[in-house]
Amino acid sequence: MSRTPAVFVGHGSPMNTLEDNRYTRAWREFGQSLERPRAILAISAHWYINATVVTSMSRPRVIHDFYGFPQELADFDYPAPGSPAVAQRVAEVVDPVWVGLDDETWGIDHGTWSVLAHMFPDADVPVVQLAIDASKPLDYHLDLGARLSSLRDEGVLILGSGNIVHNLRAIAWRSPDEGYDWAERFDADATRIMMGQPTSLGDLRGSDDYHLAVPTPDHFLPLAYLAGLADHDGSRVSTLVEGCTMGSLSMRAFVVSDDKSHTES
Ligand code: ZN
Repeated sequence: MSRTPAVFVGHGSPMNTLEDNRYTRAWREFGQSLERPRAILAISAHWYINATVVTSMSRPRVIHDFYGFPQELADFDYPAPGSPAVAQRVAEVVDPVWVGLDDETWGIDHGTWSVLAHMFPDADVPVVQLAIDASKPLDYHLDLGARLSSLRDEGVLILGSGNIVHNLRAIAWRSPDEGYDWAERFDADATRIMMGQPTSLGDLRGSDDYHLAVPTPDHFLPLAYLAGLADHDGSRVSTLVEGCTMGSLSMRAFVVSDDKSHTES
């Protein structure tokens, strides 16, 4: 049996949950292309704390961690079950790295459900989330990504959800289909590295565009998990969908896969 692919998604605005656009359609088609995974392990930009923790509750709550969006979004439900067993497996496969089990504080945040609403609209695949440990350097996240590898053999879909370029201060609301030159450039540089030597992701810190593209690491770091995983597995990285929106957001999504079917059409 081939390994379950892994995916990094540029999630953009929470409004993508409710929208039908070329990004959300790509997420949907990707979900439809998969054999049903046993579970989803999501690494979302929106759970960025000073600890390495995985959710282990059987009924994770749906977290609406944003303000100023329509009521329909505040009411959005994604009632996927959790999986204490998969959380336990995460703790086992990353050993001797220590990961705590969280059975009460977090749940499923919008970095995860805005994407899964399209990828798995029936919300019937169990979801666990792994926090991004803000106290750790980039190499820790690359290494942790590599350690998740055997979950792919067990049918777990690893989903990194962030944005390669994410600068809310520079948002250009009136440019839904354009990126600033620096955003396009950084996105292309990141893509070259992911497709060539993913563990060199840290080289991007030397880019003149880095501080504009990555003003804080939270949306960038989910990509490091996919980079570590792709390198470890010798898997192919391909672009599922690409594009910049509102000037300073890259919506690019990558698939890490051992077959050639998940490429941009
Ligand atoms: Zn976000």
